[in-house]
Amino acid sequence: MALLAVLGHPISHSASPVMHNAALRALNLPNRYIAIEVRPEKFQSTLKSLHNLGFKGLNITIPHKEAAAMCASRLSEEAEAVRAVNTLVRLQEGWAGYNTDVAGVEKSLSPHVDGRPGAALILGAGGSAAAALYALWRMGVSVVIIANRSRWRAEELARRLEEKLGLRVEVVGLEDAGVKARQVDIIINATPLGLTYHESPIAPQDLTKNHVILDMVYSTGPTPLQRAAETSGSTYIDGVNMLVEQGVEAFRIFHGVEPEKKVMERAVREWLAKRGGLK
Ligand code: NDP
Repeated sequence: MALLAVLGHPISHSASPVMHNAALRALNLPNRYIAIEVRPEKFQSTLKSLHNLGFKGLNITIPHKEAAAMCASRLSEEAEAVRAVNTLVRLQEGWAGYNTDVAGVEKSLSPHVDGRPGAALILGAGGSAAAALYALWRMGVSVVIIANRSRWRAEELARRLEEKLGLRVEVVGLEDAGVKARQVDIIINATPLGLTYHESPIAPQDLTKNHVILDMVYSTGPTPLQRAAETSGSTYIDGVNMLVEQGVEAFRIFHGVEPEKKVMERAVREWLAKRGGLK
C-alpha cells in the first residue's frame, strides 16, 4: 500500500482526502490519502520526513505552494513558469513538482468558452492567480487584468509573467474590480473572498449574461460572487469544478491511470453538503 497526503495550514477545510480516497476505492487501488497540518516553519523538514517514510505523492495547498516549488528537485513547465507547486511526486532523491491548478482552470473554463476568449479579470495575485494567468495565456486570452488588495504583489506577478509569456497584463486595486469586470469576458476569483470573508468586489450591475465566472472558493455556499452571477444570468463555475479538475490531473500523475471524475465530484459535494457547505 502506498501513502499520499495533502499538506496545508489550515487543512481541515480540504476535500482532497475524501476526493482522492473515493477515486482510489473506485479503481480498487490499495493506496491511502491523508491530510497533514504543517506550519510554514516545518514545511521543509516535513517533506524530508515524508520522503523517508516512503510517501508516493503529495498535494500542497495554502500557504506552501511557493515553498514547494523551491524545495522540488525538478519542476514541470507549468510549475516553473508559475513558481508554485500543488503536486509533488516522489523521486529516488527528493520530489518532482507539478502545477495541476493550471489544468484545473483550463478544464473548468473550456466547456464554457467558445473560440478564442478576449479579455479576462483575475481577483488575487497569489499562487492560484499565477496558475490562472498561465492557463488564460494557454487558452489564447489576449489581455489580462489583475485586481489585488496589495498592488505591489500584482505588479510583481504581472511583470514576471508578462515578460515570460508575451501577454498584456494590467494591474488595478481590488476596489476597481467592479469597473474592470465590465470590460472582460472571463472573471476568476483567486482570493479567499467568499470563503473566510463574505464579500465580493463585484456587484450584479457589473455583470451580464455573457460573463463566464470561475470562483476558486469551494467550501462555503452560495458566495456573494455566486449570487451576483445568478442575479445577472452569468455563467458561474464553482470551486468544486476546479478542485476536481486539478485533482484528476494530480491522480493521473500519482498513479498513471485515469480516475473516475464523477466519483470524485460526488464525494466532494456530499462531503460539503454534510458540512453545511455547497449543495
Ligand atoms: P495565496 O495566499 O497565494 O493568495 C491569496 C490571494 O488572496 C492574494 O492575492 C491576497 O491578496 C488575496 N486575499 C487574501 N485575503 C484577502 C482579503 N481579505 N481581501 C482581499 N484579498 C485577499 O492563496 P492561493 O492563491 O493559493 O489561493 C487563493 C484561493 O483560491 C484560496 O481561497 C484557495 O482555497 C482557493 N483555491 C482553490 C482551488 C480549488 O481547487 N478550488 C485551487 C487553488 C486555490 P494580498 O496579495 O493583498 O495578500
